[in-house]
Amino acid sequence: MNRHRAFYIGRFQPYHLGHHSVIQKIAKEVDEIVIGIGSAQKSHTLEDPFTAGERVMMISRSLEELDTTYYVIPIMDVDRHAIWVSHIRSLTPPFDVVYSNNPLVIDLFSEAGVKIKKSPLFQRGAYSGTEIRRRMLNDEKWEDLVPKAVVKVIEEIDGVQRLKKLSKTDSPG
Ligand code: ATP
Ligand code: MG
Repeated sequence: MNRHRAFYIGRFQPYHLGHHSVIQKIAKEVDEIVIGIGSAQKSHTLEDPFTAGERVMMISRSLEELDTTYYVIPIMDVDRHAIWVSHIRSLTPPFDVVYSNNPLVIDLFSEAGVKIKKSPLFQRGAYSGTEIRRRMLNDEKWEDLVPKAVVKVIEEIDGVQRLKKLSKTDSPG
């Protein structure tokens, strides 16, 4: 019997409990999960502060207690939507279903004939990369919005300080 493998993609800047809840749900439905780290080439900007390697650490360590087999694959942008699905296919283990709630992702995979399952949103107000980065910059509590393993990784790489430094060099004057 072939194993059912699902694909899930995000930028994970950082990986948070919204993503984690989706992965836990997917884990109940398939045998293996392929997690794509989008915009893998980006780091050290206010929108994309963490490197692909740092994001691999966040995800792998958060999923350690999960029974399901998973693969975490960094995927650089190609900036050509028409070839994006083939680009992903060329880098990942084969998968037969994609979980997403992003309209463009859904559109591109459906055009390519891939089965889509809509992933639900969990507390989107707080469980959001943008909101977590905003809290980090403003010295507000962000730690309860991410898995404990992610707090450790961000501490280890001094991630909040990095973000604050970036905000200084980015602002005018
Ligand atoms: P950013 O604000 O930086 O865009 P994000 O929270 O949207 O961060 P992404 O890495 O852009 O996170 O999202 C990856 C995928 O996870 C997207 O399809 C997004 O819709 C989904 N997602 C984001 N937040 C949640 C959530 N709270 N619950 C379920 N899915 C989510
Ligand atoms: Mg997003």
